[in-house]
Amino acid sequence: MSFENRLQSINKLIKHCRKASFYRERMPAKPIDSLAEFKKIPLITKEDLRNNSPYGLVCVPQKKLYEYHESFGTTGSPISSWLTKEDLHLHMKNINSGGLEFTKNDIVLIRFPYALSLIAHIVHPAVQAKGACVIPASSRTTVTPFTRTINLMQKLKVTIFAGLPLQALLLAETAELMGLNPAQDFPHLRAIFSAGEPLTRGKRQLLESIWRVPITDNFGMTEIGSGITNCQFGRHHIPEDEFIFEILADDLQTEVEPGSIGSLVITTLKKKGTPVIRYLTGDRAKIVPEKCPCGEEYSFEHHGRSSDVLKIDNRVLDCWDLSDIISHLPCQRFWVAGPKADGVKFIVEEEKSGDSVTQDLINALEVKCNLKIEIEIVPKGTLYDRNGLFTVAEVGKPRYIFTSREMEQKAYLTANI
Ligand SMILES: [Zn+2]
Repeated sequence: MSFENRLQSINKLIKHCRKASFYRERMPAKPIDSLAEFKKIPLITKEDLRNNSPYGLVCVPQKKLYEYHESFGTTGSPISSWLTKEDLHLHMKNINSGGLEFTKNDIVLIRFPYALSLIAHIVHPAVQAKGACVIPASSRTTVTPFTRTINLMQKLKVTIFAGLPLQALLLAETAELMGLNPAQDFPHLRAIFSAGEPLTRGKRQLLESIWRVPITDNFGMTEIGSGITNCQFGRHHIPEDEFIFEILADDLQTEVEPGSIGSLVITTLKKKGTPVIRYLTGDRAKIVPEKCPCGEEYSFEHHGRSSDVLKIDNRVLDCWDLSDIISHLPCQRFWVAGPKADGVKFIVEEEKSGDSVTQDLINALEVKCNLKIEIEIVPKGTLYDRNGLFTVAEVGKPRYIFTSREMEQKAYLTANI
C-alpha cells in the first residue's frame, strides 16, 4: 500500500473516530501528514476500552448498530464491540480470504461459544455466504457436550470442524475414549478451522497428526474483529488496507526490528462501529520477514498474551518456545510449565502407559535451548479430567504457564478441567 494511500486511510479513520466521545479529545484536530505524527497518537489500553464500554467508542448513530459483542471479561470487566452491517461483511470477508475455501458441499460444525462472543457469529454467516451448511454446536453450553458433538460429527458427515485448538484436542480425546480413531472414523472431515488461542507450530503439527486434516487458523479478537485467516501455506498475512500492526519494543515507543518479538499494537482502518487506533493489545507478536510461497513478502505470528510468559533470568519464554520443546517429546497433548532455577519445569501427561523421556533427550534439549529442563511425566487425567469430557460441555481457553508458587501448590491440577 502506498504511503499516500495509507495516510489517506489514517486521516479518514481519525475523522471518523472523532465522532466518539472517547476519541474526540485524543485525536489530532486536523489531518496528519506523516506516519511519525500517527505514531504520536497515544496508545489505547484495555483499561481505556473497559472504562469506556459500552458506548464511549461508538462512532456511528444508534440506528447503524447491527450486532453487539463482549469479551469474556475473565481478566476484568468486559470490553464492548459494536458492529455495523458493513463491519460484519468485512469480518466475513476476512474469514473467507484465507487458505480454506468453504463450498456448498461443506457441513461446518461450529464449536465456538455463541453467547456474546464474536467469532461464532462471524464464521457462521461467512461460511453460509459460500453456500456451506452450518451446525451450531456451541462450546459453552450444556446442550452439546463433547460426546454429543462427536455423534453430530459422524451422523451429519461433518466436513469442517471450527473451534479452539483445545476443543479439537479434547474432541479427539473423547472420540478415542468412545473407541473411535480420529484419523479414520471421520472420513468426511477435510479441514479444521481454528481461532481463539495461539496456534503454535507444535500445536498445529500435533492436531494435524491426530486428525490427519489440515488446519486453517484465524487470528482475531473481540476488539478488532475477525482479523486474519492464514493462507494456504499456514501463514498469516496482514491486509494493509484494513489494519496497521505495530510491534513495539518494551519502551512502547519504538518498533522492534522485523523478526523480533514485541508488543502488538493494532489500528483498524475500516471498522465503523467501534474502531481502534493504536490499541495496545497486551499480546506478543512478531513480523516474519520471509517471503511466503503464496507470494506475500512477510507474515505475522501471534505469540500469546504478554503476561503469559516464563521469565528465566534475562530470558522470556512464551507459548511458542515452550511448545517447540514439547514437540520433541513422545507425549505432547496436555502439559503445563513453570519456572525453576535456571530453567523450566514441565509437567506432561502421558499419552500411553509407560511414556517416558530419556536423559539423552533432555540433555539434547538443554543444549539446544541453553536452559535447564526438567520434565515430569504424570498419569493421563492429571491435568485434564477425562471423566469431565463425558459430563462437562463448557471448557474455556487452556492455561499452560504457572508461577513457581502455583507449581508448588499444584494449582495446575484444577486450572483447566
Ligand atoms: Zn502465504
